[in-house]
Amino acid sequence: MIISKELLLSTVNSFGVNPDEIQVEMFDKFAQILIEWNGKFNLTAIKTPDEIVIKHFVDSLYIMKSVRFEEKQKLIDVGTGAGFPGLPLLIMNNDLDVTFLDSTGKKLTFIQAVLDELSLKGTTVVGRAEELGQLLEHRERYDFSTARAVSELKIGAELCLPLTKKGGTFIAMKGAKAFEEANEAKNAMKTLGGEIVGKDTIELPSAGERTVFIIKKISQTPTKYPRNYSQISKHPL
Ligand code: SAH
Repeated sequence: MIISKELLLSTVNSFGVNPDEIQVEMFDKFAQILIEWNGKFNLTAIKTPDEIVIKHFVDSLYIMKSVRFEEKQKLIDVGTGAGFPGLPLLIMNNDLDVTFLDSTGKKLTFIQAVLDELSLKGTTVVGRAEELGQLLEHRERYDFSTARAVSELKIGAELCLPLTKKGGTFIAMKGAKAFEEANEAKNAMKTLGGEIVGKDTIELPSAGERTVFIIKKISQTPTKYPRNYSQISKHPL
């Protein structure tokens, strides 16, 4: 085993997440594949096993302190990169129907390799969130959307809320500027049909503060959103 089981369990147990033996082994295997592939593909700047445990696994699982997932619910992880937070959530919630979305194909090749190796089922989609958000098969189809380190909140909201069904939840994971971003996203939330209903801040061991925002989709998103990416970024809501 290359990861420290104690480090993983002692931190996630403290917020009520309890991986069993098999799940710990899955996290270990995932870390091994990540390190192996990172040499070739430069998937993540986070490289040591302890860092992977804290900054990737624990950070991703922290969502489970605030959100309860039920069987067969649909979750889309927008800008998933090397699979965060989607893959750790799937390891802990086997019955979730997870779609991994990224605009870069090689990231999804990696995710598919991890899914195969761990015998997990998930869907990988190469594409842009703002384009999927205008497609009938994806628009307002997901119980949950997640985004970590994708863009500032008002932009992330335009990428994620159109994919989230009414009554569903957009989970935004933020670093140091979380509250500033939340303030600046008020208009975007209102325009897109979202409302911040919960927030939770954690101090990651020697990795700083992280905040999870729980954003409820309270009304349908007007069809003109999401716009194309240059409009979203040049004229954010
Ligand atoms: N969520 C991961 C990766 C963050 S990096 C993590 O926290 O580790 C941001 C990722 O979002 C990159 O992999 C990039 O390719 C992807 N991305 C950026 N804009 C996107 C968009 N509009 N649609 C889909 N993917 C996007």
